[in-house]
Amino acid sequence: MPTLNNCKSCGKLYLQNVTEYCSDCQAQNNRYFMQIREFLKINPRCTVMDIHNRTGIPVSKILEMRKSEYVPFSQ
Ligand SMILES: [Zn+2]
Repeated sequence: MPTLNNCKSCGKLYLQNVTEYCSDCQAQNNRYFMQIREFLKINPRCTVMDIHNRTGIPVSKILEMRKSEYVPFSQ
């Protein structure tokens, strides 16, 4: 049975699903993920700061994705 949960990113209440985010934030995360993945394809040895500077994605988001092994970082 689905339960209500607070989104990990924006704090909005949402019906809990497979992720810890509401559907809006999950869609945003997916966009970030695609951007980071494309960036890593071209710059496989880049750092978190490189990604942040070039894509504008918040560092906290990049670190979060790295922590969750969402993105295969080289470092
Ligand atoms: Zn959210």
